[in-house]
Amino acid sequence: MLKIGCHLSSSKGYEAMGKTALEIGADTFQFFTRNPRGGKAKAIDENDVKKFLEIQKRSDIFPIVAHAPYTLNACAADSHLRDFARETMEDDLKRMEYTPGNLYNFHPGSHVKQGVETGIQYIADMLNQILTKEQHTTVLLETMSGKGSEIGRNFEELREILDRVELSDKMGVCLDTCHVWDGGYDIVNHLDEVLTEFDRVIGLSRLKAIHLNDSQNPLGAHKDRHARIGEGCIGAEALVRVVNHPALKNLPFNLETPNELPGYAQEIRFMRENYKE
Ligand code: FE
Ligand code: FE
Ligand code: ZN
Repeated sequence: MLKIGCHLSSSKGYEAMGKTALEIGADTFQFFTRNPRGGKAKAIDENDVKKFLEIQKRSDIFPIVAHAPYTLNACAADSHLRDFARETMEDDLKRMEYTPGNLYNFHPGSHVKQGVETGIQYIADMLNQILTKEQHTTVLLETMSGKGSEIGRNFEELREILDRVELSDKMGVCLDTCHVWDGGYDIVNHLDEVLTEFDRVIGLSRLKAIHLNDSQNPLGAHKDRHARIGEGCIGAEALVRVVNHPALKNLPFNLETPNELPGYAQEIRFMRENYKE
């Protein structure tokens, strides 16, 4: 069965997200752990979590994908910014234990002028400080479009990070279709080859989630502007092939397209209609 959902607002809590997911036909969803610009998270409301876990029990909503604030930069030159990223993610991972067994996705960061090697080392160092043997969450590095000095612009950079993380069984990768396309991987004409490349460099067993987005820009643009399904340069047909690819079929797909709920519901329905069991 196709596992598909979308990014939801977390401002009303877990139960509200669970109910919304059911209303729009989703059986996975993504949310920001706190204000996407960072800052303090609301305390976990245990009663809210309990109600959500009950919804989960009588539905197929699993897994859920928490997304770290996108302004965190684990490889910033300024050590205070790196500390802030580490403390925020460490706190997020504690909060994730209220809903065990799910995924926590983050953008590796931007190395700015320090160079890729230094950036990769900072990211791995942070992960080695915050990951614990006891955690029940898998932490995902997101594939990036390579805008500015973003790390994760190709599969090799993610592989380098993974290689330096000690508790590597706690780590995985989330592939964003808009980002890899913008990064120069032609998932429209060469999806098989791109996935073979992913397998060769990182290993498909590391791939735990997909962000399903069209892109406003052409292949290799390094821009990162998402488009609705079928309204961008990737196109609906290619994205239908993505959800149906045998190497990806069992992964959770989350839409991060510029939509309100009705638009998301429509895209979820469209993908389900075009999914072959
Ligand atoms: Fe992201
Ligand atoms: Fe994404
Ligand atoms: Zn993006």
